[in-house]
Amino acid sequence: SQWDCTSTSANTRLLFQPSSPPSSSSSSLPGFLLSPDLPAKPAFVDGATGATLSYGDLRARAASVARALRGMGVNKGDVVLLVSPNSLHFSALVLGIMAAGAVFSTANFLNTREEMETQVQDSRPVLVVTTQELRYKLEGLISGPLVLVQELLAGQHAQAPQPPAFEGALEVALGDTAALMYSSGTTGKSKAVVCSHGNLIAMSRLLGQVWGAGCAARGAARPGDEVYLCAVPLSHMFGFSLFVCGALAAGATVVVLGRYSLERLLGAVGEHGVTRVPAVPPMVIQMSRAGTAARRFDLGSLREVICSGAPLGREHMDRFARSYPGVTLSQCYGLTETSGPITLCDGVPGRLHASIGRLIPSVEAKVADVRTRRGLPPNKLGELCVRGPPIMQGYLNNPEATSLAIDEEGWLHTGDLCYIDGRGLVYLVDRIKELIKYKAYQVAPAELEEILCRHPDVDDVAVIPHPDEEAGEIPMACVVKRAGSSVREDDIVSFVASKVAPYKKIRRVRFVDFVPRSPSGKILRRRLRELTNLENQRL
Ligand code: AMP
Repeated sequence: SQWDCTSTSANTRLLFQPSSPPSSSSSSLPGFLLSPDLPAKPAFVDGATGATLSYGDLRARAASVARALRGMGVNKGDVVLLVSPNSLHFSALVLGIMAAGAVFSTANFLNTREEMETQVQDSRPVLVVTTQELRYKLEGLISGPLVLVQELLAGQHAQAPQPPAFEGALEVALGDTAALMYSSGTTGKSKAVVCSHGNLIAMSRLLGQVWGAGCAARGAARPGDEVYLCAVPLSHMFGFSLFVCGALAAGATVVVLGRYSLERLLGAVGEHGVTRVPAVPPMVIQMSRAGTAARRFDLGSLREVICSGAPLGREHMDRFARSYPGVTLSQCYGLTETSGPITLCDGVPGRLHASIGRLIPSVEAKVADVRTRRGLPPNKLGELCVRGPPIMQGYLNNPEATSLAIDEEGWLHTGDLCYIDGRGLVYLVDRIKELIKYKAYQVAPAELEEILCRHPDVDDVAVIPHPDEEAGEIPMACVVKRAGSSVREDDIVSFVASKVAPYKKIRRVRFVDFVPRSPSGKILRRRLRELTNLENQRL
């Protein structure tokens, strides 16, 4: 077996031995993904219109975007912010930004102008690329230019003569920053996760390698025969890593859905011969519930649905297995901080996986005792800590948060509680970090608490997750009212709703007498969750 359980007096580590250590002759992500010998086939297909972008077109588009950005004065290391819904050309824009030597940054297009402004102030982009529809959220936020996606793709901007990084003219080193994606990590507000070209090349290689090797087992002749459906946002690391990095490295075709709906997802499978659908739990739950209604769609090509981003309940898994007997339901797991998935179920036998799978090659894991931080043996519950080539460089301009996340030995503390069995299968049990996951979207309690503290009737507040059948979790505000205040639940909800993206809304309010805090003033979230659970049971 490739599994090696090494025990030392200090800890037990579980290490997946890579069959060949990932290495690359390219030092930039576009250089790695857009090497000259590209497959003669579509890289991307627009799920709605059927328009395609071949691997060759993708390379040409990325080169033209890179030249246009250089022509507008973008220099190596400058940050370029791309805000756009999923589209056929999203990857060409990303690879073009990186091929200009610039740093790609993105934001959820649902974010409010206020949220965009916070991010812009933190990452300081020199140029913004967005669509006509989203322009109003970004116009005037930076002193540099705002460029429309359509104009950039149509080649309406003067092109600099310098060739893009993947043609070797521009020095980009493996350690240079390639992307800034936002995550709140284990505590506090959203922070920019710094991923280097080396991190993203490692992720691309590893996914390409695992998906390539796993193909025969799934019945696909070659990795390139896979057709993936992208229904998750490309602005989130899950979608970004799978569809900008992994699928291209495996030479596969990706069908992109601009907007998700169950009908569109199921319709696209038959229309484009989709073989694998990476999804988040609400999509899997909707698929399971569709039951007989799904039978009117041709799902003959579909072999696997890969669920990630948040926990999927056992009952939903069983229901899915009953509704789609020919389709494997597996899971993968990763964080923005790990540049994408670090566990996959590829090669794990069976059609249904309660485990999140095994570590991908070259990623090392340790399960650490939550109090002592010492490594634990297999089957013991503790915090999952991981180390390896795809792990982020740190949080931008935030050494304190970085050293909280990555310890002196290089272990990233995930804030997830898990155990690993003797076969190397990882089982997630709970989340011990502050993060709330609404439909797999990140909601940082600290951000909502800061907003709520500005409400004149709020004396103290804590935001915690509340279990929800559809969304997994919803943000719930536990509010201590100012003395004599008659503030109501609706006032609290609408106060926050006007300031945040819809997925971050407070969806439940509980008025409490006090918020439990530690002597240093830290909110005791676990205690609060226990208290509200007790009250729920009493009601
Ligand atoms: P993000 O940075 O938004 O990708 O969030 C990462 C977090 O999502 C992880 O630390 C987990 O808490 C959660 N997560 C990701 N994948 C899974 C999964 N398959 N099952 C349960 N939780 C997951």
